[in-house]
Amino acid sequence: MAQSKLYALPELPYGYGDLQPHMSEEQLRIHHTKHHQAYVNGANAALQRLERARREGLEVDVKAVLKELSWNIGGHVLHTLFWYNMAPPGRGGGRPGGRLADAIDAEFGSFERFRREFSQAALTVEGSGWAALALCPLTGRLLILQIEKHNVNVAPTLPILMVLDVFEHAYYVDYRNDRGKFVEAFWSIVNWDEVEKRLGKVLG
Ligand code: MN
Repeated sequence: MAQSKLYALPELPYGYGDLQPHMSEEQLRIHHTKHHQAYVNGANAALQRLERARREGLEVDVKAVLKELSWNIGGHVLHTLFWYNMAPPGRGGGRPGGRLADAIDAEFGSFERFRREFSQAALTVEGSGWAALALCPLTGRLLILQIEKHNVNVAPTLPILMVLDVFEHAYYVDYRNDRGKFVEAFWSIVNWDEVEKRLGKVLG
């Protein structure tokens, strides 16, 4: 068998201190180097366990390993989206423009209404999870998803344009248990250019 590719932790597109005061250096560093890294390691470990079992003809608990793969790959993919849909204050924040603004107005009526629904989705995730903005290619309509854990309530193949991590590990250093304060702060560091770029890739 050829050498198989594994997952790797991506570099952040900014420095650890660059999202302050909305996200502290300590919070972002732990989140990226410990939590995200753990999903990368977990996905690779599961893949390697499967590879070894295939190579050596061993039995493997397929259900358990696939569950582990889904959780860890989901975590890796969503965190990568998350880092890129944020930008230092000044470059991030404000309001979307262009086609993204048009799509938001068409679906939600206004940016304010979208922001409120997305915040509500983030605030009401049971336990750990994400709020996500996606575009359904079948209808061309924007959809808000409320993802539980990293992999529950995800619509298969539906392209995600923007995510907000509301696992406690995403905000506990800065905001303790106040998820609402963290969700509010997120709007000051959204990288709308990146979200619009992703929309353009789907719309073509
Ligand atoms: Mn996270």
